[in-house]
Amino acid sequence: MTFITRFAPSPTGPLHLGHAYSAMLAHDKAMENGGKFLLRIDDLDQSRARDHWEAQIYDDLAWLGLTWEAPVRRQSNHFADYEMTLNTLSRIGITYACTCTRRDIEAAANAPQEGVPQFGPDGRIYPGTCRHAGHDHSDAQCIRLNMFAACEQALPAQFVESGQDHSGAHLLDLDTMVPNIGDVVLARPNMAASYHLSVVLDDAATLVTDVIRGADLFEATAIHVVLQKLLGLPTPRYHHHKLIRDENGKRLAKRDDARAIATYRAEGASPADIRAMVGL
Ligand code: GLU
Repeated sequence: MTFITRFAPSPTGPLHLGHAYSAMLAHDKAMENGGKFLLRIDDLDQSRARDHWEAQIYDDLAWLGLTWEAPVRRQSNHFADYEMTLNTLSRIGITYACTCTRRDIEAAANAPQEGVPQFGPDGRIYPGTCRHAGHDHSDAQCIRLNMFAACEQALPAQFVESGQDHSGAHLLDLDTMVPNIGDVVLARPNMAASYHLSVVLDDAATLVTDVIRGADLFEATAIHVVLQKLLGLPTPRYHHHKLIRDENGKRLAKRDDARAIATYRAEGASPADIRAMVGL
């Protein structure tokens, strides 16, 4: 069985215990399966990406004892590829320019319809104001995927993507995707592609067979599978792992410097200590 997995941190802050767990788990699985472990630098958000955080990623992962394939893919080298795909999706008529500001979306959401979910994996579910407005791309706050049209094109009547391990299954059908996820963002004027579009293209370009990532991304996986179907790309096996939490049960965040790997290193912890802390 071919097994290619990856760890894809954003260089926008220090890696913490949650990242260490994700990276070591993916690395362990690759080794167990005689496969490959890739490292990708998800520096899509150029306003927040920093060289020194990228350098720290290499340093921390090497200290943890991980090795990865060369070359390391960096998203910022692929903006033109993302744009090309965006143009393809636009040509087939399933994207649109959205001129709504965050405030417009909040205002529209102030009159919620009963029984209609307000939040999905992409944050507040877009109310659809611009869907048929035909705005010019030059005025856009963002480019959105018309989820109804996308599902109509991409999916057979009902399609269940069964997850691996504890991932559960995704029910991918129009009646689920449209109200629960809605018209997600694919690009912004200052961002060549959203996380959803870039991650699908990057995983496909690097022939990833197994995506191992946190359970917080479980819901987003449905979006990724729809994009793969639309673009004729293979769907990798998805494994969503537990999240590492602090003693209050809160998910660790980039700002949690206290749990940064660099902090533990400075305090004299060993890579084995880190493994034990995350339960590996
Ligand atoms: N750069 C993304 C993150 O750090 C990658 C998520 C994924 O594995 O798809 O959340």
